[in-house]
Amino acid sequence: MYLHIKSIIYRMLGILYPKRCVACDKVLLKIEKEIGFCRECAGKIKLVGPVACMKCGGPLLDDRKEFCNNCAQAPKAFTQGKAIYQYTGNMKNAMYRFKYGNRRCYGRTFAEHALHYYGGWIKSKNIEVIVPVPMYEKKEKKRGYNQATVLAKALSDMTGIPVADKIVRREKETEAMKQLNALKRKKNLLNAFSLQKNVVQFKKVLIVDDIYTTGTTMDEVAKVLKAGGVDEVFGISVCIGECSD
Ligand SMILES: [Zn+2]
Ligand SMILES: [Zn+2]
Repeated sequence: MYLHIKSIIYRMLGILYPKRCVACDKVLLKIEKEIGFCRECAGKIKLVGPVACMKCGGPLLDDRKEFCNNCAQAPKAFTQGKAIYQYTGNMKNAMYRFKYGNRRCYGRTFAEHALHYYGGWIKSKNIEVIVPVPMYEKKEKKRGYNQATVLAKALSDMTGIPVADKIVRREKETEAMKQLNALKRKKNLLNAFSLQKNVVQFKKVLIVDDIYTTGTTMDEVAKVLKAGGVDEVFGISVCIGECSD
């Protein structure tokens, strides 16, 4: 009886909030729902794929290389990162809607894809807790949600790994990162994050973010966690810049 009611509720939710193609926002047909993209977009989306930087997980053109130029030049505080799609084409619009357009429903598709490609990797790292990159509190209140937390919660639902969205806090507004170069981004994020709770209990943490650009944000959050006693920090982002090597 209970299950029956539950399935009716899900069906009603499906009518109210139909599953959409994350790339073009079109409501998906039944056969498209499994993959999360409509037929047109499925052929156009650029996944990061297996030829990727061993550090940040960004796509590489040359499969003989281990690291992208960015990681080869600037050491990172996190152990390793992964990303699902290249930040190009329709995925740029997708990320915009996920961030500003209240398309929280995309979180589920992103989490499904993250687990499809990196589920084994996540499992092998014995992650104890998922930490979404925090937003500045005032900004989050205004927007109503933090897209990184939405993704973290979807991943948590599917893996059983708990989310800790209160252990790192964003101390200042760091808007307009897009216009800044790598050095200025670093300055902009200096002391931008702080630890709110004791994290010594955690040895392995997974940071979750929407877009990985220069890696400064993930790196700053990783530094804060490691300073608090975490041994290893891993990261997963929905999108990452196109090939840079
Ligand atoms: Zn589409
Ligand atoms: Zn890299």
